[in-house]
Amino acid sequence: MNRFVIAVLIAASASAQTLEQRVDRELPSLLTTYKTLHASPELSTKEQKTSAFVASKLRELGYEVTERVGKYEEPGETCYGVVAMMRNGDGPVVLIRSDLDGLPVNEQTGLPHASTNANVMHACGHDVHMTTLIGTAKILADTRSQWRGTVMLIGQPAEEVVRGAKGMLADGLYERFARPNYAIAIHDWAALESGKVGFRAGYVMANSDSVDVTVRGVGGHGAAPDKSKDPVVIAAEIVVALQTIVSRGNSPLDPVVVTVGSIHGGSKRNIIPDEVKLYLTVRTYKPEVRQRVLASIERIAKGIAQAAGVPADRMPIVEVHKNEAAPATYNDPALTERWANALRRELGAANVVLMDPVMVSEDFGRFSLDGKIPAVMLMVGAADPAKVASGAALPGLHSSVFAPTPVDLVLKTAVRTVVAGVNELLKR
Ligand SMILES: [Zn+2]
Ligand SMILES: [Zn+2]
Repeated sequence: MNRFVIAVLIAASASAQTLEQRVDRELPSLLTTYKTLHASPELSTKEQKTSAFVASKLRELGYEVTERVGKYEEPGETCYGVVAMMRNGDGPVVLIRSDLDGLPVNEQTGLPHASTNANVMHACGHDVHMTTLIGTAKILADTRSQWRGTVMLIGQPAEEVVRGAKGMLADGLYERFARPNYAIAIHDWAALESGKVGFRAGYVMANSDSVDVTVRGVGGHGAAPDKSKDPVVIAAEIVVALQTIVSRGNSPLDPVVVTVGSIHGGSKRNIIPDEVKLYLTVRTYKPEVRQRVLASIERIAKGIAQAAGVPADRMPIVEVHKNEAAPATYNDPALTERWANALRRELGAANVVLMDPVMVSEDFGRFSLDGKIPAVMLMVGAADPAKVASGAALPGLHSSVFAPTPVDLVLKTAVRTVVAGVNELLKR
């Protein structure tokens, strides 16, 4: 054989490699990356070292990387967003998002690569997402001849406080870099067996709103309730009545959660306080349901205060915290089906499973600009198959003992999932 023939054969065998073979070859280095990230988590808005690490890995792979993309509304805070672009000819732009932040959790896994930062842990698996982003970047860089278009990799800070996506968009993300045709993401999933991927079209995660209700009364002596308006009793009635928003005021087919997670008031047994504070989280899917539920909270709080004879100038104050709100995650049905079909071919149909939606929240939905850009988030299984088989209890996301198991299978499945999705959207 002459050298030309050998070169052609080598090139042919390189492109004939399956995606699985390519991921297997990258796995040892991805495991090292994962363990490095897992051992050194940083809290939301403080992702200085994490973002620099991700940026340097992507730069090494030939991406055009920009750091510190993003602007928070609060002055004086740095937004550690990372954007890495690879322009590879005409074709669609695909945004692939990983989050960067850890949680204020004291890790109890006992793993050799456990967090070395006290009371900070990657308990939501954002280290899996970052490693997947880096693995995807490597394989797409190695296979440039097989796809065309633009890949836009996003390292997003402050997901756990749902501020990072908003901050990056507010800094002109789509104007400065590119406006994507598609936005995709994965999240590891503690209730799904490792090796499997979960999908669902339509709403998969909820709108989240934080609402404070300050119930104001007229304080006085605990032994003379007739001389006061007791905000403790009024607050107790409001807590119970708020549940009728879900059970009576809402269609049974539209999921809603109203949880009063915190209640504070008073200082001593024999004092009727001036006010009681209620702190609520509210979860919904549809925008019209969200508006109605928020209006109902205000109406019920004021109505009960009125019924109790609270003076007009002491009506409850209802505050909705715009900075703590996250929009629902809506999976574009056509894009979801396209990605799921590609995964059935890549992973086998038995490993691609329909999932139930949940009422937890994410800020990935912001990248869709209210549905103008088709977006999808898929769930990658992270539960130990042995535990699933035995029916043992599985630690949830945010738990101090959550550990994707076996982590090499989780990473391998995640990288195959994302690369197969990008190949489907950018194939030549
Ligand atoms: Zn989380
Ligand atoms: Zn998360």
